[in-house]
Amino acid sequence: MQYDAIILGAGAAGLMCAARAGQRGKRVVLVEKSEAPGKKILISGGGRCNFTNLHTAPDRYLSANPHFAKSALARYTARDFLDLVERHGIAWHEKTLGQLFCDGSARQIVDLLLDECARGSVEIRCGADVGAVDHADGSFRVGDVAAPALVIATGGPSIPKMGATGFAYDLARRFGLKVVEPRPALVPLTLGGEEVLFREISGVSAPVTASAGKTRFAEAALFTHRGLSGPAILQVSSYWRPGEPVVIDFLPDRSAGWLVEAKRASPRATLRSLLRGALSARLADILADRLAMPAELANLSDKALREAEMRLAAWTFHPTGTEGLAKAEVTVGGISTAELSSQTMEAKRVPGLFAIGEAVDVTGWLGGYNFQWAWASGVAAGEAI
Ligand SMILES: Cc1cc2nc3c(=O)[nH]c(=O)nc-3n(C[C@H](O)[C@H](O)[C@H](O)COP(=O)(O)OP(=O)(O)OC[C@H]3O[C@@H](n4cnc5c(N)ncnc54)[C@H](O)[C@@H]3O)c2cc1C
Repeated sequence: MQYDAIILGAGAAGLMCAARAGQRGKRVVLVEKSEAPGKKILISGGGRCNFTNLHTAPDRYLSANPHFAKSALARYTARDFLDLVERHGIAWHEKTLGQLFCDGSARQIVDLLLDECARGSVEIRCGADVGAVDHADGSFRVGDVAAPALVIATGGPSIPKMGATGFAYDLARRFGLKVVEPRPALVPLTLGGEEVLFREISGVSAPVTASAGKTRFAEAALFTHRGLSGPAILQVSSYWRPGEPVVIDFLPDRSAGWLVEAKRASPRATLRSLLRGALSARLADILADRLAMPAELANLSDKALREAEMRLAAWTFHPTGTEGLAKAEVTVGGISTAELSSQTMEAKRVPGLFAIGEAVDVTGWLGGYNFQWAWASGVAAGEAI
């Protein structure tokens, strides 16, 4: 059967791309291996789908080419997706830091996309196992369908138990496209050695700033039975490389010299009592134990207090690894942007072949940025097909 485009993967990017191309009058078939479309959308944002971020900007994405995402993100913005959400009468709210969520359920976003696809007469085939993709004489063939355009929208390999694989990369490589080494991102980090003692406070969270290299995030960190998690840690995990430390400021709002000032104001206080006033008791205790300065502040030198302050502001953890693709929200790396047009997402060396969404080496921060990339890259390809 002949179509204008075959889109592989009915996730966020594939559905958006199909709707846009279909509404432009293109005959589109969307081929999905799962029984239903949009499975990752349904579990996203704790079931409420953090569908975009008002602060979307290219510098909130990781890619070997930091300029690549600019064009698509500028042509389809967070406001554009929000307009679509509002046209569909979906109630939404900003949770924090520009993150927009459905008031109701992520199902509403999947329904929106299916509705837009229906308006474009897109044919959706679920439960279709894509075997071989043939390419000859400018035509792509998948099973019994053929088209001059093929869009790879099969996502990345994070959360394999949902069926996610490296299919997109294998297919891209078959067409001679380079793939930037994928690694798990937005993922908890594991602790070992002495630092396993922090497992004692599993479940405790605190507002911190966390940094890996030069990149720093001010959000909550959470101690877990395996190591570190919470938004601040998930964010830095995308930048963290094995062997590097992660540095946490446990008291980011305190100004320099606060401990020496506390000594003047309350000489009978202890470091433990001060920390208990600022942090949860279990976290305060584990930090105080490690600082090992039980005396009253009056009996501690200013130099020792300044050193303690510096340790609290730059507590250095040495993660042993990440919790891997099984727990990663996304994958950094993917189909190299050097192979694609930033205007259309079409492969420069293989006319008619497109790649969009998480399959491409563009990865957003936590907070709705990844869906915004899926929408924007989907629209860019949907308009070019
Ligand atoms: C638990 C979790 C929560 C998340 N929450 C958020 C959030 O709130 N906000 C946000 O911005 N991002 C979130 N993300 C990230 C977001 O889900 C992804 O960035 C986004 O889904 C990527 O869209 P995509 O269309 O490229 O890939 P996907 O949504 O993964 O879609 C790919 C589709 O291709 C199909 N497929 C795979 N292989 C084949 C094949 N061989 N043949 C046919 N079909 C195939 C898959 O079944 C799937 O339907 C979350 C991720 C996870 C895991």
